[in-house]
Amino acid sequence: MNTTVNPHKATDTTPPSFVREGGCRCGAVRLRISAPPLITMACHCTGCQKMSASAYSLSAAIPSAAFEVTKGEPVVGGLRGASKHYFCGQCMTWMFTRPGGIDFFVNLRPTMLDEPSWFVPYFETWTREKLAWATTPAARSFEALPPEDSYGEMIAGYAESWRDGPPGG
Ligand SMILES: [Zn+2]
Ligand SMILES: [Zn+2]
Repeated sequence: MNTTVNPHKATDTTPPSFVREGGCRCGAVRLRISAPPLITMACHCTGCQKMSASAYSLSAAIPSAAFEVTKGEPVVGGLRGASKHYFCGQCMTWMFTRPGGIDFFVNLRPTMLDEPSWFVPYFETWTREKLAWATTPAARSFEALPPEDSYGEMIAGYAESWRDGPPGG
């Protein structure tokens, strides 16, 4: 696999090749993505602080058609509201989220991937709830959620960051 190929490049006539495998801490659940993220983010909200057991959560928005659970049966956890948070039922790793009312992408926790080093959060949300010392390299920061009309521009900006391959190298 050639990671220097830009899978977002619109002029490519061949189908993009971006296949990555991943799984939970114990390996009972395995997954595969076959397209790069539409966009990537970090969320500093207190809910993500609790569920991630850390300062913030990380998400890679993977097109639903390019996201596949290949082994095991993830279980729903978290608040069990409109958004469904999926965990490994054995090791309880928080693996991915299907956002409420949205079915065209899945928010994968990128550290589930066997090789996540290319991941960089493009924007960050809920900085008003962040721990004082917590910083990320995100290009765009929002005190709460981004305005609805900012997503198109940010998705284009993220794609642009792939000009020479994955933004993380
Ligand atoms: Zn597990
Ligand atoms: Zn959050």
